[in-house]
Amino acid sequence: MSIIATDLDGTIFKGQTLIDGVKEGLLKIINEGIEIYYTTNNSSQTPSEIKDKLENLLQLDIDISKIITPLVIFQNLYSDDKLNIFIYGSENLKKYIKNLNMNVTSLENAELVLIGRKEENNFSEINEIIKSVSIGKNILSLNKDLTFPTEFGEKAGNGAVVKIIEDELSISIPTLGKSGNHYSSYFIQNRITVNFVIGDRVDTDIIFGKNLNAKTFLVSSGIKNYLDVNIADIQLNKFSDVVPFLTE
Ligand SMILES: [Mg+2]
Repeated sequence: MSIIATDLDGTIFKGQTLIDGVKEGLLKIINEGIEIYYTTNNSSQTPSEIKDKLENLLQLDIDISKIITPLVIFQNLYSDDKLNIFIYGSENLKKYIKNLNMNVTSLENAELVLIGRKEENNFSEINEIIKSVSIGKNILSLNKDLTFPTEFGEKAGNGAVVKIIEDELSISIPTLGKSGNHYSSYFIQNRITVNFVIGDRVDTDIIFGKNLNAKTFLVSSGIKNYLDVNIADIQLNKFSDVVPFLTE
């Protein structure tokens, strides 16, 4: 049985809108008995919120254990530790991390800084983070996406903040997102052999697929890529165009 990992933002939906032909395509894939993992760098919503969104848009039951986000990777990585963490991100993110039995605390008292996404960036907070990382505080980012697609165009993502800090300190911040080793290790450790990866980003989806030695499909329904699109094995317009390759 084949296993596919499909991206969500820009591949399955844009903002609150399903991309044309996705539902029909997914039904065909499911009917073929192909297993689907929903792989996303979205870290401003919890896996359970993403499940609700997918179920609402698709009118299908989604198994939450098939939704792999940087938060799932975080939970997997630190399941045995109770860390003091400073979170740069939404209230939802803070709540989720607290529920993992972590101690969400001030920057001063934290042993780890976790960079998520905020609706409005707080540049004085970013400056404080830069200061504390420069004197040795550990830092991790949920993802490094510079932008993310919405139905109103691209908006600045986590990666924009990560890049400010990286450029200022000339460091590379480790990520729990698709482009990083932690993300692909999750699949390897859990013996999930992904055969096909579908997504709209070369820097995350296609790199992730290459890390797993999967066949990679790049769709042009999402963001504009800055990396070479020819890194992908096959380029198509949208998710439903991939289906014949999977079911033949
Ligand atoms: Mg995407």
